[in-house]
Amino acid sequence: MLVARKKQNPSSHMQNWERLPDPAKIMEWACYPCRAMARERVTLRTPSKEAKLLDCTQCGCRTRHRTLSLVEEYGESADGDVQGWTDYCAVQCLGCNTVSFCLETRCSEDADYNDDGEMFLVPKYTLYPPRLQGRKPLEYDGHIPDPIHTVYLEAYTAIVIDLPVLAGIGLRAVLEMICKERGITSGRLIQKIDALEAQRIISPADKDILHNLRFLGNQAAHDAKPHTLQELLAALDVIEHLLKGIYVVPARAKAIPQRPPGR
Ligand SMILES: [Zn+2]
Repeated sequence: MLVARKKQNPSSHMQNWERLPDPAKIMEWACYPCRAMARERVTLRTPSKEAKLLDCTQCGCRTRHRTLSLVEEYGESADGDVQGWTDYCAVQCLGCNTVSFCLETRCSEDADYNDDGEMFLVPKYTLYPPRLQGRKPLEYDGHIPDPIHTVYLEAYTAIVIDLPVLAGIGLRAVLEMICKERGITSGRLIQKIDALEAQRIISPADKDILHNLRFLGNQAAHDAKPHTLQELLAALDVIEHLLKGIYVVPARAKAIPQRPPGR
């Protein structure tokens, strides 16, 4: 819980932080819903110069990040037996300079030992904007219709933030939207996929893969069955392959000079 303090000088944001209660003073507050009393304090810290290895949204891989600003929240149980730290950090990729947000949490109940036998608290990172390691979403380039690209991004985000049922439903929705955009509206999804192949929008091999994807989407939509990350990433591969094959590649291929007639 961040401690908000009434602004005394609106022209200086930093002064508001400097006027926070003495870090040595721990505030007591009631935990909802257990109503137990807990204690916490919030402190503006000088960031360490040590870089963190985090996934970068732009580089598409894990890179070194420096911490630009750090607010530390410390809390403990009423009896002092359990302590927890949350660091709110603005971080910057040292490869591409992209700035993002990192929430780092540590708890006295989650410790491990390094190679030298020293105990450390295991950090857990939550990054915003959310991202998948080594995998950037398809960028909007005007070729994929807006509504389809929007739902695709929602499905991608659902995978990133670990909402597997919604991710499965979202990927199936993208497939349904592609069929509708191509004028295939009658019948169930099984018939629509067959129509995509009959109209030579997709290959016979793609049709078989899409039927598997349809099955995955059915389980998510009708049985609320969560799929594994590997299953969802494979399904995302299929959807991205479809979007590129139907919208992106044909549009970009127009830039290639036409072959002369008869050659
Ligand atoms: Zn980067």
